[in-house]
Amino acid sequence: MAQARKICVIGGGVAGLAVAIGLHQRGIAVEVAERDKDWRVYHVGIIVQANFVRALNALGVGEAAMQAGYAYRGARFLDSTGVVLAELPGETAVDGLPSDLGLTRPALHRVLTDKVRELGIPVKLGVTFTSIEDAGDHVDVAFSDGSTGRYDLVIGADGNYSAVRGVLWPEARPQYTGQGVWRYNVPRPAGLEWSDIYIGDPRNGYNGKAGYCPLTPTEMYIFAVVEERGNPRFAPETLADELRKRLAGYGGLLGEAARHVTDPKLVVYRPLEACIMPDPWYKGRVVLIGDAAHSATPHLGQGAAMAVEDAVVLAEELAGKDTDAALRAFMDRRFERARLVGTSSIQLGEWEMHPEQAGDPVEVTDRIRRKLAEPV
Ligand SMILES: Cc1cc2nc3c(=O)[nH]c(=O)nc-3n(C[C@H](O)[C@H](O)[C@H](O)COP(=O)(O)OP(=O)(O)OC[C@H]3O[C@@H](n4cnc5c(N)ncnc54)[C@H](O)[C@@H]3O)c2cc1C
Repeated sequence: MAQARKICVIGGGVAGLAVAIGLHQRGIAVEVAERDKDWRVYHVGIIVQANFVRALNALGVGEAAMQAGYAYRGARFLDSTGVVLAELPGETAVDGLPSDLGLTRPALHRVLTDKVRELGIPVKLGVTFTSIEDAGDHVDVAFSDGSTGRYDLVIGADGNYSAVRGVLWPEARPQYTGQGVWRYNVPRPAGLEWSDIYIGDPRNGYNGKAGYCPLTPTEMYIFAVVEERGNPRFAPETLADELRKRLAGYGGLLGEAARHVTDPKLVVYRPLEACIMPDPWYKGRVVLIGDAAHSATPHLGQGAAMAVEDAVVLAEELAGKDTDAALRAFMDRRFERARLVGTSSIQLGEWEMHPEQAGDPVEVTDRIRRKLAEPV
């Protein structure tokens, strides 16, 4: 296959926007189709560690992300009462930029969409594909707005429930891992410079863990990762009460912050569903990136980081190489790293649900943070 010169990206989330920026920067024509006409994202936060900062910087948005977020020192592990057990300070990957950054998700979205607009990358909003026909030397895509396009490559960046993945690998589906994650934004206490992870004590009624991450000078977000047997659905009006119940066994700053959880409409609850595709993530002229290829649970706070790393590496490889060689090189650089994050995240969740069999989550988190701080 010759070098790809015109590429269609399905999905305008973290991965899709990042790969569009990376491709445009390398002179490759790119178009994005995003299903949501309002291009919305959740209001809660996102944890940005050193490898994510480096990937954003490679796209020319590292400084903008730093301005939009709140830099902090790294992660700490605490017991459920708030006693600090371990500190994992972040390792800076880019001179002049922080190692760890909290961002509201709308802030990250704005940083990426501003760049896409600045570069003039075409984005069709409220549009998805209706068919993808791989003809061997090109791909024909039909879109839901009636338009069609011919491309050298299609990138499926349409998230955990990817319809592009459904076309290529209809049997692959995210599986419920047994836990759910709760999130809520609260005021940030002055002087808080760490993202804290409290290890839950099952004697308090719920196993798992909870914590918070600074987002802005005045805001942080609380998260709680909890075993939710039978994958229950919660009535929307009960969400604040349900989250407060799950935080009731925690002391320290977390216990104090839990009293701010009052508005059920502002609680974001998600059952954890993971899908880690085997190598390769491509067939012919269609390739998956981000959650479409490897959705992990949030135990290492690396889902979006992996998505942006995929984007940077794919854009680097597609520039100046024939497409077959580029896709193979992309997999060689990405598969083990994303698999490590995905399988380790699931393992950490298993340990939380079965504390009697648990290994050392601090050691695993520290080892993987260090590994990911190394260049891709
Ligand atoms: C509440 C929450 C908090 C999280 N916190 C963190 C964190 O702190 N740190 C971290 O690194 N990761 C975090 N993650 C994980 C992270 O959000 C994902 O790994 C990341 O968003 C993956 O990016 P993506 O672009 O692959 O998918 P998405 O962000 O899901 O984007 C997919 C995009 O594709 C669009 N789309 C879907 N289907 C179609 C279609 N058929 N046609 C066209 N468009 C389509 C969607 O509208 C969306 O815009 C969190 C996830 C959740 C849910």
